[in-house]
Amino acid sequence: MSLSSNILIVEDEPAIAELLAINLQHAGHCPIRAASAEEALRVIRDVLPDVLLIDWMLPGMSGVALARALRADSRTKGIPIILLTARGEEGDKVQGLDAGADDYITKPFSPKELLARIRAVLRRRAPQLTDELVEMGGLSVDPSSRRALYKKNRRDAVEIRLGPTEFKLLHYLMAHPERVHSRGALLDKVWGDHVFIEERTVDVHIKRLREALSQVQCADMVETVRGAGYRFSAQNRAAQASAA
Ligand code: CA
Repeated sequence: MSLSSNILIVEDEPAIAELLAINLQHAGHCPIRAASAEEALRVIRDVLPDVLLIDWMLPGMSGVALARALRADSRTKGIPIILLTARGEEGDKVQGLDAGADDYITKPFSPKELLARIRAVLRRRAPQLTDELVEMGGLSVDPSSRRALYKKNRRDAVEIRLGPTEFKLLHYLMAHPERVHSRGALLDKVWGDHVFIEERTVDVHIKRLREALSQVQCADMVETVRGAGYRFSAQNRAAQASAA
């Protein structure tokens, strides 16, 4: 990564925060430090970082609560978040990703691994998809305006609120419908770099996408193909429409 990024480190252990800052500086980034979630929120009020590294266990507000708060705020919801933690349980990872973290790194980690993950989340922010609008089964996804709509009929359209990853995922699936995509293939095409991301991440985002689509009764269009992956299909819907 030739560009220098402002990276906010939210870590209460001074030795770890110092080590992170030194490594990030050596890699050409501009580290900013906060010793608590509360301090991080004060820093963010003044300057929006490009990436956040958040320790899970913090005094006061936890790292997961901070991630959730940032995702809930329109000003900060697009900032990539990497959670740092000593916890390695599968349930914790899902909780972290559900809170809105883009990635998860378990201590102890090598500086090389951390930098690679930062590169990956930064790369993911760059839109990898075409700007082509895709319409199918009443759904329309327009990357140029970044809007997803559900058209009940010719006049009434409902906007579907999607996170950036869910938006890209839906756009990709709709651009390649009626085809089974493995988790690995989706990571390649939607995330752009899957070296350090677990396939489980895809399931987390598919779940979120279905939750958003369920608001317009379209969750069933994203099908799970057991042992193979996921498929977008509007065929059932077309059959329903012609029967009605
Ligand atoms: Ca800590």
